[in-house]
Amino acid sequence: MIRPIEHDPMFLAQKSSAASKADRQVGQDLLDTFQAHRQNCIGMAANMIGQLKAIIVIDFVPQPLLMYNPQIIQHADPYETSEGCLSLEGKRPTTRFRQITVVFYDQDFNKRILKLSDLYAEIVQHEVDHINGVLI
Ligand SMILES: [Zn+2]
Repeated sequence: MIRPIEHDPMFLAQKSSAASKADRQVGQDLLDTFQAHRQNCIGMAANMIGQLKAIIVIDFVPQPLLMYNPQIIQHADPYETSEGCLSLEGKRPTTRFRQITVVFYDQDFNKRILKLSDLYAEIVQHEVDHINGVLI
């Protein structure tokens, strides 16, 4: 189900709790809402649809990638950039890493480890900030 986008910075500043198999509907809603905003959005976290669960989705080839409980376990090669956010107005400067390794659970709750670089890495870092209550 497509959910409205949350814009309240007080709400978005809260930390999300770990997701479980019981939160699959939240994951599906996140995917549906992401698809509806795909023209101007490359990633989304569950708190952006009002759910404080550690679930994110990123634009990925061949299809959007849903991640439950993503954790960045390695990062390298920092750079300065600025990012916009569907939940917030404007752009803000931030430091990101060109290479990351992320551990997460996929839609079937299988544990996966992925090495990502450049834009994919940047999106994951932005969305993981969201689940930690960090607004960029
Ligand atoms: Zn954002």
